[in-house]
Amino acid sequence: MIADLRSDTFTRPTPEMLQFMMQAPIGDDVYGEDPSVAELERKMADMFGMDDAIFCPSGTMTNQIGIKLLTQPMEEIICDKNSHIQIYEGGGIAYNSLISSKLIDGDRGMITAEQVEAAINPDDLHQPISKIVALENTMNKGGGAIYDMEEIRKIAAVCEKHSLHLHLDGARLFNALVVTNDSPKEYGRLFKTISVCLSKGLGAPIGSVLLFNGIPRIKAVRLRKVMGGGMRQAGLIASAGTYALDHHVERLKDDHRRAKQLANALKEAAFVEDMYPVETNIVIFKVKNSAEMVKTLAEKGVKCITFSPVHVRMVTHLDFTDDMLEHTLQAIHSI
Ligand SMILES: *Cc1c(COP(=O)(O)O)cnc(C)c1O
Repeated sequence: MIADLRSDTFTRPTPEMLQFMMQAPIGDDVYGEDPSVAELERKMADMFGMDDAIFCPSGTMTNQIGIKLLTQPMEEIICDKNSHIQIYEGGGIAYNSLISSKLIDGDRGMITAEQVEAAINPDDLHQPISKIVALENTMNKGGGAIYDMEEIRKIAAVCEKHSLHLHLDGARLFNALVVTNDSPKEYGRLFKTISVCLSKGLGAPIGSVLLFNGIPRIKAVRLRKVMGGGMRQAGLIASAGTYALDHHVERLKDDHRRAKQLANALKEAAFVEDMYPVETNIVIFKVKNSAEMVKTLAEKGVKCITFSPVHVRMVTHLDFTDDMLEHTLQAIHSI
């Protein structure tokens, strides 16, 4: 048996999801004629109480469009130094938006209102104009850490006070929501733009949604087009997102339970030197040599990845079953 814990992106559509996809009504979405894309966009916008949404091929694209929509060249974004938008999007912030980044040293990737306020540049022509703040929830590099809603409210208040926009990389936002029971509509009120991935824990094969408030739809659609994200019969894949929202949200709790069980076994293991708190579906632990540990685990039929020279990451997901959990626990005990 192989347990693949490299990422929650490795899931395949379930037979029921595939069935739903096959029956979806489709059309040319570049002409705005795909009813299944429109349905997904409306469903998400309504859920978050936001004005509108666009369906895109990837979370990188939804983040990049969100940032581009809210900035002009020479301005600056404030975010954690380990944000996905900063370290895993190929330099896209600078390339697409022609802006600089003010990087904050957050706690497991989570920044505070105080840090945000201190990072805002003064009105000085030497310095770029601070324009946007971006948060990531859950925070990948922080081990799937969840933001405290009270802190988000404070950050939003700082943004309001200084006329900064607030963007959320919510690639795994639903993982946070099923734990905290925070309201999607409150997220919709606090953020100007929100990116949500359907292809992570939700288990759709492709796709992300960018939600937005107070921005003409045509501006978002134009940016998507120029980035090559205008898709034709995209309802084939958007319908998988709709299916996932209806069937794969509550079950994220199963992924979280399995992640905690992995964490409990790892805590007891002699080879583990330290661990991040496990709040959702991501488990990060510290060893002497992560490359060697990944190799050892692979030989025992457990796939995971290095997250630094001394950190290993495991991510639970829809295709990681209780049998695979048992298999992984045995592999951990045997080391
Ligand atoms: C996966 C992910 C994204 C988007 O990635 P794509 O592979 O482009 O869909 C954005 N932010 C975070 C935190 C992610 O984990």
